[in-house]
Amino acid sequence: MESVKAGNLRMWPAIVHAKCPRCRAGKIFTNPAYGFKGQKILKECPHCGLVYEREPGYFYAAMYVGYAFIVAELVTLAVGTYILTGSENPWVYLCIMLTVVALLAPLNFRYSRVLLLHWLTPGLRYHPELSGNNGKSGG
Ligand SMILES: [Zn+2]
Repeated sequence: MESVKAGNLRMWPAIVHAKCPRCRAGKIFTNPAYGFKGQKILKECPHCGLVYEREPGYFYAAMYVGYAFIVAELVTLAVGTYILTGSENPWVYLCIMLTVVALLAPLNFRYSRVLLLHWLTPGLRYHPELSGNNGKSGG
């Protein structure tokens, strides 16, 4: 295991690796994004004890974040397909978009929740003092 020093964990690696927004050390999901078991959010951070579901129905808001992701992906795919193939056949676009969006669905699910926790939740911010190896016993 790598040792975690307090106060030196940066935001982007924490988001990419789906870590807790408060300590940036504990994981949010029980499984990796691509797997046969599906993704489950832990009830609380195993490092600092932050309860992830801030209030009942909290993760419904992640649907809006996921919606924004999908719109951005579809627009990018449509423009990219047009530039690369120049096709005017709607079936080409439909097949490419459905395939790619289905393949990206686990990432959309994961990162809509991670961004909701990291950026869109008022009052939830990084506490460097909780990043250390003694997160739970430190305070
Ligand atoms: Zn934590």
